[in-house]
Amino acid sequence: MGDSIDNDLTFSDLEVERVLLVFPDSSRSCVDVWNDKLKNGVLSGTHFKEHWRIWVPKIYSPEPYGNSLDWSYDEAKAQEVLFDTLEQFICNGDPQEVLTKLSQLDSPPSVCGRVFKMGEPTYSCRECGMDPTCVLCVDCFKQSAHRHHKYKMGTSSGGGCCDCGDTEAWRSEPFCDIHVAGSEIRPDPAGHHLPDDLTERARAAFTAVLKYAYQLLTLEYTTGLPSDLQVKESDENLFGLFNTPDAYCTVLFNDESHTFEQVITTLVRVVKCSQRDAIDFVTNTDREGRVVVKCSTFQHCTELKTDIERFTARHGNRPLKVLVVHTHVIAHQFYAMKLLDWLQKILGYAEGFRVLFSDVALQNKAPDASIVEGILLLDSHLWKSARTHWHRLIISGMLMEYESKKAFAKVFTKNYGSVLKDFMRDDHDHSFSVASMSVQVFTVPTLAHYLIANDDVLFILLNTFISECTRKCNKAGKLEFERNVPTGTFKRAHYILYDLKYLLSSKPVMWTDALRKGFLQGISLLLNLLTFMQGMDMVTRQVGQHMEYEPEWETAFNLHIKLAPVITLALEWCGTDKIVLIKAYRATLKKLYDNPSFDPNQAGEVRELVDHSATCIQYDVATQPVSIHLPLSRFLAGLHIHLEKFGLHFDSHELQVTPRPTPEQLIEPVLRTQVMISQVHAGMWRRNGYSLLNQLYFYHNVKCRSEMLDRDIVLLQIGASLIESNEFLIHLLNKFNLINWANPQFELNTLKNPEEDSMRQTISLVEEFLGLLVILVGERYTPGVGKITSDDRIKKELTQQLCIKPLSHSELNKTLPDDVNYETGMERVIDQVAEFKKPGQGSGKGIYELKTELYSNYNVFFYHYTREEFSKSEETQRKRRKAAGEPECCPPPPLPPLTDAFMMMANLLQCDVMLHIMQIVLERSINLRARSFSETQLHKVLHLIGYALQEEEKQYCQFLLFTERAEKWRLELLIEELCSSARVEAHKDLLVWTLAKYRQIAAPRRQGGPSTTVPSTLLQETSQSEGTAKEEKEWRAMMAAQKRAKIMAQMTAMQKNFMKENAKLFETTVSEVGKMSDLKGLPMDLSENMETAPVALGPNQTSKPIIEQQYTCILCQEDQTVSADGPALLLAAFVQQSTVLCQHRKTENLDMEESGRYDLPDPLFLPASVGPAPHTGTCGHVMHTHCWQKYFDSILAKENRRPYRLRQPISFDIEKHEYLCPLCECLSNTVLPLVPPLGTFQPQSNQHAQKNVTFETWLQGLKIALKYKKKLPSGVRKLEVRRSSRIQALQGREVTLNATSEENQSDFQGFADDVDSQPVQHMLYTCPIDQVSIELGDSGADFASLFPSNRNLADKPWLSENLEEMIILYSQATYTKGLGVHPHIGDSRVPLMIWKSCAYSIHSLECLLRDMEKPLLGDLSCRHRDCLESLVRIVGVFDAVWKRPEVTSSHALHILSLILENPSDGPCILDWDCFGVLVPLTFSLPSLFLSDQPTPVPSGNVQELNILKLMLLSHIVKILLTVDFNEREEEPMDVEEVGEGDPAAKSNILELLHAVRKVAAVPSDENAVQLDARSVWTKVKNACIPFLRCCALFYHFLVGVPGPYVLMEVGGDTFENLCAYLGLPKSYHELVSSPAVFDLSMKWAHHEKVRRYVSGASNLSPVTVPLPVNQLVSLPADYSELINTVSLFTCPNSEREDSRNPTMCLVCGQMLCSQSYCCQTELNRTLVGACTYHAHECGAGVGIFLRVRECEILLLASPSRGCFMSPPYLDQYGETDQGLRRGNPLRLCLERYKKLQLLWLGHGIHEEIARALESNTSIVPTQWQHL
Ligand SMILES: [Zn+2]
Ligand SMILES: [Zn+2]
Ligand SMILES: [Zn+2]
Ligand SMILES: [Zn+2]
Ligand SMILES: [Zn+2]
Ligand SMILES: [Zn+2]
Ligand SMILES: [Zn+2]
Repeated sequence: MGDSIDNDLTFSDLEVERVLLVFPDSSRSCVDVWNDKLKNGVLSGTHFKEHWRIWVPKIYSPEPYGNSLDWSYDEAKAQEVLFDTLEQFICNGDPQEVLTKLSQLDSPPSVCGRVFKMGEPTYSCRECGMDPTCVLCVDCFKQSAHRHHKYKMGTSSGGGCCDCGDTEAWRSEPFCDIHVAGSEIRPDPAGHHLPDDLTERARAAFTAVLKYAYQLLTLEYTTGLPSDLQVKESDENLFGLFNTPDAYCTVLFNDESHTFEQVITTLVRVVKCSQRDAIDFVTNTDREGRVVVKCSTFQHCTELKTDIERFTARHGNRPLKVLVVHTHVIAHQFYAMKLLDWLQKILGYAEGFRVLFSDVALQNKAPDASIVEGILLLDSHLWKSARTHWHRLIISGMLMEYESKKAFAKVFTKNYGSVLKDFMRDDHDHSFSVASMSVQVFTVPTLAHYLIANDDVLFILLNTFISECTRKCNKAGKLEFERNVPTGTFKRAHYILYDLKYLLSSKPVMWTDALRKGFLQGISLLLNLLTFMQGMDMVTRQVGQHMEYEPEWETAFNLHIKLAPVITLALEWCGTDKIVLIKAYRATLKKLYDNPSFDPNQAGEVRELVDHSATCIQYDVATQPVSIHLPLSRFLAGLHIHLEKFGLHFDSHELQVTPRPTPEQLIEPVLRTQVMISQVHAGMWRRNGYSLLNQLYFYHNVKCRSEMLDRDIVLLQIGASLIESNEFLIHLLNKFNLINWANPQFELNTLKNPEEDSMRQTISLVEEFLGLLVILVGERYTPGVGKITSDDRIKKELTQQLCIKPLSHSELNKTLPDDVNYETGMERVIDQVAEFKKPGQGSGKGIYELKTELYSNYNVFFYHYTREEFSKSEETQRKRRKAAGEPECCPPPPLPPLTDAFMMMANLLQCDVMLHIMQIVLERSINLRARSFSETQLHKVLHLIGYALQEEEKQYCQFLLFTERAEKWRLELLIEELCSSARVEAHKDLLVWTLAKYRQIAAPRRQGGPSTTVPSTLLQETSQSEGTAKEEKEWRAMMAAQKRAKIMAQMTAMQKNFMKENAKLFETTVSEVGKMSDLKGLPMDLSENMETAPVALGPNQTSKPIIEQQYTCILCQEDQTVSADGPALLLAAFVQQSTVLCQHRKTENLDMEESGRYDLPDPLFLPASVGPAPHTGTCGHVMHTHCWQKYFDSILAKENRRPYRLRQPISFDIEKHEYLCPLCECLSNTVLPLVPPLGTFQPQSNQHAQKNVTFETWLQGLKIALKYKKKLPSGVRKLEVRRSSRIQALQGREVTLNATSEENQSDFQGFADDVDSQPVQHMLYTCPIDQVSIELGDSGADFASLFPSNRNLADKPWLSENLEEMIILYSQATYTKGLGVHPHIGDSRVPLMIWKSCAYSIHSLECLLRDMEKPLLGDLSCRHRDCLESLVRIVGVFDAVWKRPEVTSSHALHILSLILENPSDGPCILDWDCFGVLVPLTFSLPSLFLSDQPTPVPSGNVQELNILKLMLLSHIVKILLTVDFNEREEEPMDVEEVGEGDPAAKSNILELLHAVRKVAAVPSDENAVQLDARSVWTKVKNACIPFLRCCALFYHFLVGVPGPYVLMEVGGDTFENLCAYLGLPKSYHELVSSPAVFDLSMKWAHHEKVRRYVSGASNLSPVTVPLPVNQLVSLPADYSELINTVSLFTCPNSEREDSRNPTMCLVCGQMLCSQSYCCQTELNRTLVGACTYHAHECGAGVGIFLRVRECEILLLASPSRGCFMSPPYLDQYGETDQGLRRGNPLRLCLERYKKLQLLWLGHGIHEEIARALESNTSIVPTQWQHL
């Protein structure tokens, strides 16, 4: 074996040169051979294949026993042998030179043609693009004029190309600045001529390459190669290459019926690969379409194949497609795809190449079809990547030049039927099918027109679609779909409708006979299709029983939605040519006649009313079937409105076909539908279920109504204009079954036969009937019906919408139907209709308000209103008119004039039947005994009368004499009488308006008749009664609102069963809490009255006011004072591991040598990089301990009752001790007990006993103590165990003190393990205090006074048991979160974590306040104040509760050793955060000498002042070591009083600076200027401020000394003010200058690690001081920039592949490949998405991300919670575009981003997510962990 490998190596190293380029049967290079054959005129594809036959398997064959994941090959060799040879041949010389020259001739090109990858940004211009498919790439867009137009952004789904330079794609500005140059320099098309020789060579090569690729990629599924590519025996002898036995591959193919999980499991089991590899296989299959999962022997491969098929066939599925293929086939196919890429690259060089390519690809020598045709027909047999390779090649080779494109379009059209049939049977997405190329050719207007005229494209497309439909037709020839029958294939057929839309999207300007013929051929097929739909999905009214099952209705509506744009466009085409219109109209009439909706043999029935009669078609809608789908009738309506343009009308001789339907017959189907809808509204169809209601909803909905409701109304209006008015109304009444009602005797008749139910129905039906009349008469905003433009129509729509309420841009846009280009036309007219009100505070969205003068156009019965919109708009308008002092009614608006064709419609208003109807409604309104009366009827009749009056006033129709004709019917008198009727009080104003209008219109005719004004008494009366009525109405509304509120409150209360009894109190709690917090503000305000500035620490400490605090429990509402022994109070609190302040994120230094340290942060102190550490927060809501426990237990019980499988991903996890605050539902996981001020625990004598120990003495004393420090012998652990058991007993567990008991034994075991796992936790102890006293000599006694030992408080219970328990409980929260461990009460790290949380929480509040620019103490929110106050106090008493002073003492020694000894094997000064050391030292140092007594509570004594001094000193040294003092500050030199007159101080700081820098070997700056002591000191002081701010917060809450006034103001926190409050000296001299300080500084600077940091030898740069406030990454102002950046982002786990969901971490800026299998990682033994994993690494489980393509914010809280939020980007109307649906240009809104920043910085993400999940109503839970 070793031999053969050696041989291989020798071969490739040495013989490459000789053999590689040599042709098999000669000794010459292949290029020479090809040249020879060319010269002799015999060169063919065979000669190329001879070369590839040998070399392709050699180079590209997969390794035996491998798979596609570890597949690699020699790329350089491939290039040399397989590609360079081709190029050399084509160029006959140096390819580089020739190709460069060629491309220069072509440069710059006049078209772009860039093929988009998936996710690449695209831009369309809404002003210039012909349609929305016309798009530009980023480069072109940035160089084009459209960037200043109204444009839209989008992301490509892959496969399309840039349309820059295509003059047909753009109305104007077709070129960008790059490509315009190309169009200018080459006006003549001769530019693409290649030299003859080159042409000949390229033709030969292209032909060979294309045929080879075609042959290999479309290879039928055999295991072997075509014979001319097989390796022959002679080859083997010659080269000795292939003595290895034949190898085979198991190839897995993609399908859409198996889930990822199914395939992954199968592969893991069958192929025995790892989970990770299985995922990679599956993602590759999904992307590429196939993958090699194994190379092996034929037998092994076949076994795998069988197993995979067997496994995947299990779930009732088809088995996955698996093939066993020879490795050489795989190699050749791989090369074939590479060749296609290569060819695409070559085509890019010159237009000549492309023309040649197109020629070759289309060439067909019978019987063979051309390559293009072959690909079209075999596309669905190829796997994904093979397909896309061909598609891209065709796009870049054939679609750039018009003639090639046209040639392709013809071939495409010819084969369209087969292509689509294949596509429908296939299961791949449309974008992976060659069918998707239609958008490239059908959207080009001239091509579309050409294809319609010459290639029967409409016929072919419609025929393909119709043949799909005929399968779905029932016996009656109507489409019929069944529920639960898969409709996948039919849905895929809908793509044909898109293609039809493309073809028709541009109307022809010039018609030719050929175009007419082709188009009308299409129309005739379209009419066939419409006939299939006419009358489909019939419904029959259900009586007696409810429907048993809901009939299918969705498919028909889906079809309608896809077809409607085609219908609209076809109608528009018809409207542009008289001949076409006539022929289409006649054809439609004929179709309608051939498909009657009634029985032609049934005789009509004569109906009579007021001396008029009509022969009506008998059809009872209430018992016979009715359909909502009537596209054929509607098509006629669409054609009809174009007639007038060409001087045509219904009776023109051109339109006479015999036989044809009468107008009555034409309106019949539509009328039935209207009656059915009316009956539904009248409650007659209640038993028909939701299916029907859904249909009606969509019939009326904006997405469907243009080709449904709107056309129906037009058709009825056509009927009204063609049928005699009285007859028309009789037809309507008859169909509504209301002839009886219209009988004057109706009321009398019903008295004899009273039937409540049918009367109620009749009343409703009359209302519906009158409503239909109002619509027919009044809805004239359709071009062709009224004399209006389509813009007028949009304006009308907008006006009506804005009468409901002001709307934002997107809301308003949504109310309009969009055209085929998805445009509504709103922007064109909106400014004429409304005014845009900018958003108030930058963040809200702007709204449009209707212009005042347009309110008079409001039509209360507008036909597009839903019922809610009707009542809402009426209410709004009544209110508005009342406020404006106008009569409170909504009279009908003036109407636009009718077109001549529809003029007769106006006659409806004055015909006898109408007047009769008006009369009876008015009379019955007056008649108090009339039972058929309703207010709505009166309202609608008054509306109709109003229309008639408006119409007569305008005098558009000369024949309209309403007032005159109405005399006979006494309408005026009836109205006048009604004005004083109490029954119709609500419509009094409208009656008055109508009467006045009537008299005003009638006046000229009456010529000075009786007074025409309304009696003034009447008016007065109206307004009076209106007043009282109004009041009553308002009162009722108020009562109703109150009742509603009550019910709501009760409901909330019921949901929260814990406070059932307190439902009412609940509402008031909030305000009481507010009051409480006001009271709590008092102590701080006291400071204003104090004469001297307060001092918190040291000998000059201001006396601390002890204020009793009282809170109300939110659960039981009882007031409670905070005390040590009373019932304990708690705050709901949340502890989370936080990295918000981190200066070094884990992700940045994964490979760092120090990284180990970050995995396990030293528990002893907060590191300089600040975190991760447990952060404590609270919502500030207070409860009794027992109330909270009861509440928590009830949740626990509730959650346990919930069956496991019904578990929602609820907002909190009970197993993690989480719950929601009962008041504000804030996420909580622990409690913070309220502890009284620490001063109450200190004996007053303590204060006086304190001596002023100098800093130096203090240091010296501590050093002595350190000198005696010793490790505690291990036996002492027993003691610890005993103590911890005591605490467990505290918690209610029964533990005996007997150390031999079993339970204790196990406890001991657990504890010992824990101790061993702790790196620094060996226990230390030191000498007694007396020893130090003695050694200190004179000052010994003073020092000893700092550690009083003779206290007798030891056994006195300070705090109630209850309170102690809760303090321990809280300590466990910080302990478990901070260390990621299970609870353990006795662990010595428990106090460390509680200290750490205290330090970190203060740090983070300091940063938050700094970021918000809020004052340090003056403006704290109650949440923050309550949180820190309780936290600091709890920590203060913790040691006394925990009762293990010997552990505390040991911690103190550890910390002291760290600081004062600073051993070289421990952390250096740059490793710790000074405040993070100060806190633990403050709490542990008092225990230094006490190992058997409770730790004293800190009180702000001299000891603490000295601790502060020590840490400030270390902070200053850090500053001196790390800050660059050469950097000059911008600010002018401020006048300083400190150090001004003290030259010694000046030299002092410089001296220290130079000394420490020298010791630490800080590299000196060459250009260092002479440092100025004053500026150095200023810098140092400024850098100290954040540290001092933390200290001020800390001591303020610790000792309770109120802060000075200056610290409550912004900017008052100067170094001097902070020092004053903290009791520190302010000058450098007093602070720093002493030998002890100097020595200590030297010691710190001398540490080995400091040198490594400052010299840059360490991988980590030292953390800069002061701590900067972390910010979220900065985002570009323009959102498109962000999209552009991510288009370059590829998935880090799959080579060069795009990521589908590029998502940016806003904390660190890293881009991730989210929501994808390729980037799943294992975390805690489950696979999680890239975001979840990153959140774990970067944010300790919390993440804040921007999903770039979706344009939305993602918040994550591991392991499985998250929520989406709207992004901080807004369009020009102040609206966000979550999901990037509208595509308007977006800009960054800084305010919104700042809010996000504060949410993060304030640790609010967990809370935000919990709230979002709580209010989430979606049924399908999001798998957050997979994002
Ligand atoms: Zn472009
Ligand atoms: Zn361009
Ligand atoms: Zn433009
Ligand atoms: Zn309570
Ligand atoms: Zn709360
Ligand atoms: Zn990925
Ligand atoms: Zn990050």
